[in-house]
Amino acid sequence: MSIQQGRLQGSPLQEAPARISGNLRTAAQPGTQRTTGKLLATQGYVVGIEISDLNGTILQRVRRPLEYVADTKTVLQLLDGMLAEVMAPDHLEDGRVLRVGVAIGGLVDATHGVVRTLHHAHGWDNFPLQDYLAERLDIPCIIDNNANAAALAEVQYGAGIGERIVLYVGLGRGIGGGMIINGRVYHGTTCTAGEIGHLLVKENGPRCSCGGFGHLEAIASAQAISRTMIGLSVENPQTEAALRRVTGARAERITAEQVFRLAAEGDSVAQQIVNDVHTYLGIALANIVHLMNPSMIILGGQVAQAGELLIVPLQARIRDLCLPAASEDLRVIQGRLGTEANIVGAVTLALQDI
Ligand SMILES: [Zn+2]
Repeated sequence: MSIQQGRLQGSPLQEAPARISGNLRTAAQPGTQRTTGKLLATQGYVVGIEISDLNGTILQRVRRPLEYVADTKTVLQLLDGMLAEVMAPDHLEDGRVLRVGVAIGGLVDATHGVVRTLHHAHGWDNFPLQDYLAERLDIPCIIDNNANAAALAEVQYGAGIGERIVLYVGLGRGIGGGMIINGRVYHGTTCTAGEIGHLLVKENGPRCSCGGFGHLEAIASAQAISRTMIGLSVENPQTEAALRRVTGARAERITAEQVFRLAAEGDSVAQQIVNDVHTYLGIALANIVHLMNPSMIILGGQVAQAGELLIVPLQARIRDLCLPAASEDLRVIQGRLGTEANIVGAVTLALQDI
């Protein structure tokens, strides 16, 4: 879809840029609180737009849950309405929107501002979202993958403040990674650096969302953990009963964190799943530690909500598998931004080099 085709005639946003530039002039005095905007499309389940000040404090927030990942036209239409809502003049009395940052749950060519692929969605292949939004809103826009954005956010505002070499691991529906080298995101030649969900950790292992087999994401993502738990419970009455108990008879709602808790309480099926997560995530991270020698690994996403149940055994595995010189000073910790990491990441993108 081209930028022109993506435009929606009669949208309220067609007037919005003019109103925003009007605010621009009133905000020109020194000391005026400036405002920046950010957008988030994470894994296709939620589209969120938030307006924050330059400290990352969120001033306005709108969210729209999605049942499935919609095509470009539908999502852009949704964004138009949401942007008009958050950018209404009475919301921006103290300044103007300086920049828009977008964190995308998919492959992004950050150099050219193009969405390469949005997983499980159609019409997004090679979509020039950065130019589209910049032109539409008349505001500079920056887009990146959500794990890269979250990595930057954790280093600037969260658990990794002051660290120069950091690996961020987003253990969500999929698994994403963000590598911070000397304080900046390392993107690689074609912006796929950090795609650690597709590291091969188990030959002939379960099928991954990308079509490959035995990738880390197919074993240790939140979705893989929940799915495996549901699948294995069918043959294990005790586990099935435990599942019913913790989910209020809605087994499909089981979370990765609940699986970790059931494992800690002694459920043998949950223990097997959690053990696999520790084993294969441990292998992947130990390999990365030898490659990039980080001072810190920050774990985020839903699986990281398991906290110490995830981190303590994982740290021990990594230490067992690594050369002491590579791992003795390494800290493996839970992200401080929690479920906000992606959205704060989008803000952090927008604030870069301002
Ligand atoms: Zn894969």
